[in-house]
Amino acid sequence: MIALVLESPGHAVCRTVSDPPPPTAGEILLDVRMVGLCGSDLNSYRGRNPLVTFPRTPGHEVAAVVAELNPDFPEWQPGTPVTLSPYSHCGACPSCLRGRPNACQHNQTLGVQRDGALTQRIAVPASHLFRANLSLRELCLVEPLTVGFHAAARGRVSPQDVVAVFGCGGIGLGAVAGAAFRGATVIAVDLDDAKLATAQKAGAQHLLHSGRTDLAAQLAELTQGRGPDVVIEAVGLPQTFRAAVELVAFTGRVVYIGYAKEPVAYETRLFVQKELDILGSRNALPEDFQAVIRMLEAGTFPVDDTISRVVPLADAPAILDEWSGDPLRFTKILIQVD
Ligand SMILES: [Zn+2]
Ligand SMILES: [Zn+2]
Repeated sequence: MIALVLESPGHAVCRTVSDPPPPTAGEILLDVRMVGLCGSDLNSYRGRNPLVTFPRTPGHEVAAVVAELNPDFPEWQPGTPVTLSPYSHCGACPSCLRGRPNACQHNQTLGVQRDGALTQRIAVPASHLFRANLSLRELCLVEPLTVGFHAAARGRVSPQDVVAVFGCGGIGLGAVAGAAFRGATVIAVDLDDAKLATAQKAGAQHLLHSGRTDLAAQLAELTQGRGPDVVIEAVGLPQTFRAAVELVAFTGRVVYIGYAKEPVAYETRLFVQKELDILGSRNALPEDFQAVIRMLEAGTFPVDDTISRVVPLADAPAILDEWSGDPLRFTKILIQVD
């Protein structure tokens, strides 16, 4: 079968690879239909993801159909459209034992530490599959949106909350949609008018351009001086990490999904004075997948606004090269595999 293979940093090819081994007892064989690429795949392509070794087939945002019946799982009939959770979990680490396999200490993500879905057939544990009444494009958006939905869940977002989301890229947009789906009043913050416009369509009631407004003053005005109940940080810069703690309400919750690339200096007095809940958020749980699927099935998410390009598998090396030359040019690229 044909696969996209990252041979070395900056060098991708479509070539023949061996068929997947026969599915093990708990696995279902899938025909891959479409796969989304995100910033982490671009990082892998450029050789900047320390978890990726070469050669590697990327692909973790998957739309597929069941290829063959596994008699142990009659509920997964051939032809059933599915998406999947690309994470693995060991079952024995502290996270797994606490029922939080999304943060497994020994997680291996499809397309990162092991070969991914940008090929024609893959075998996946039945427990990782999700069915949905969605188009192929929508199925590819499920996984990237779950990361923000999980952050909203970590922040225990409820209809009474005002939630500020810092950063409306792919992950932040999921947090906006996730907080809105939970009934909160959402304030989207970004430096890009187009991203703010998409955030509004995804459910943000208030939009703040942090380059043109005084963020602290605006957040205070929108919350009668209290500050947001929850701040979700999806940028990853030291100043936004700090701003989250400075601007959140007393006894509020701060959720970090962004990865800061350098150490961050804090006024830790605020942790104590405000008695904050400061939470990390990583990957997503099955219930986050179910929630995203319900939202997409309801048709309330601006699917077309979030997809930059759809190209056939044969064009994947060229589009990766183009994207690497101009990283701001695309947000979400979908690769048509079949
Ligand atoms: Zn992704
Ligand atoms: Zn584990």
